[in-house]
Amino acid sequence: MNYTVVLNGCSRTVQSQAEELAAFIETNLGAAAPGRCIIFYSAPEKKDELAALFPAEYLLLVRVERYQPEFFLSALARLAQDNPTPLYLFPGGYSGSELAVRLACRLGGSSLTAVQKLEAAQEPPVCCKTVYSGYLQARLELRRKPYCLSIARGGAGQRRRAVKVREMAELDMRGAAEASFCRELEFKEAGGGGLEQASFIMAAGRGVGSKEKTEKFKQAAAELGAAFGVSRPVAMNAWAPLSALIGASGVISRPRLCIAAGVSGAAAFYAGIEKSKHIVALNIDEFAPLVQTADVAVIDDYEAVLEELLRLIRQERELKAKGE
Ligand SMILES: Cc1cc2nc3c(=O)[nH]c(=O)nc-3n(C[C@H](O)[C@H](O)[C@H](O)COP(=O)(O)OP(=O)(O)OC[C@H]3O[C@@H](n4cnc5c(N)ncnc54)[C@H](O)[C@@H]3O)c2cc1C
Repeated sequence: MNYTVVLNGCSRTVQSQAEELAAFIETNLGAAAPGRCIIFYSAPEKKDELAALFPAEYLLLVRVERYQPEFFLSALARLAQDNPTPLYLFPGGYSGSELAVRLACRLGGSSLTAVQKLEAAQEPPVCCKTVYSGYLQARLELRRKPYCLSIARGGAGQRRRAVKVREMAELDMRGAAEASFCRELEFKEAGGGGLEQASFIMAAGRGVGSKEKTEKFKQAAAELGAAFGVSRPVAMNAWAPLSALIGASGVISRPRLCIAAGVSGAAAFYAGIEKSKHIVALNIDEFAPLVQTADVAVIDDYEAVLEELLRLIRQERELKAKGE
């Protein structure tokens, strides 16, 4: 089966991504299976090193400003339209799985994450993966093409093979319109009605780290027009007043948007935000309960995400002020 491998060359793990995917392909599709590889990268000095990473018939190096799933997806969807393959393979881990699922959704195909093995490499593919915390082995047949899979982690550190690439092309997509996913924004002040009435809440959890950082978070919430709330440890540490406590022992809110940073999502806290229309979790732990239930989860240090959000919003406000 013809395939496309997608590597995130903006990540420090690109070498193990390549090794794991090469091992997966060799085992499941055969070393001679015809395939192409797309590598997104941002550092030009790494280009030659990246070009030698993966054995493919055709290699496309796509230069981007930085890692941003929206941007990768737009580029991949466009490339898939021009030159489709039935199978798209992504590395293991959170970002590979995110890209696999979202690309399948955009292309009307089917997706599966953490795939260990292709039982039948013909179409439609039958994939094997462990389920129920590793207690069961599932065989799943994918029906809709294209099939977008992220592979299970492990298998890195394979011996490096001599990498032969038959054909190579480059694309510079910096500054493309899709590089910004932030096009139209409207800010409404949370209003004086307090947390119960607020339509936008930003909640800080213990992961925020300190009283000073909680204060900074509160200022960021005010700048974004959000009401400020906290989880119990934050209130108990006196990083914020008890009146800001969200949850079973505090405020039960029902905003349109709740961004919860450094909050694990214990049931007592969740009771206070579960009526939100959309929940965004910022957490370094991909297995935190709130990450599993949120509409959108960003697995990263909340400070980095917040900084980037503020940067985008300030930029948008500047453009608006200039009438652009
Ligand atoms: C009777 C009872 C009533 C309770 N009522 C409430 C209530 O009303 N409200 C409430 O909140 N709790 C309540 N609790 C406590 C509740 O059970 C949890 O202990 C609490 O919600 C946990 O708060 P947390 O998520 O902030 O902290 P933790 O559970 O410690 O989670 C911190 C999270 O931050 C993440 N993190 C760490 N560093 C970073 C970083 N740099 N960037 C991003 N993420 C990071 C971690 O991965 C972790 O998921 C109650 C408990 C009891 C027993």
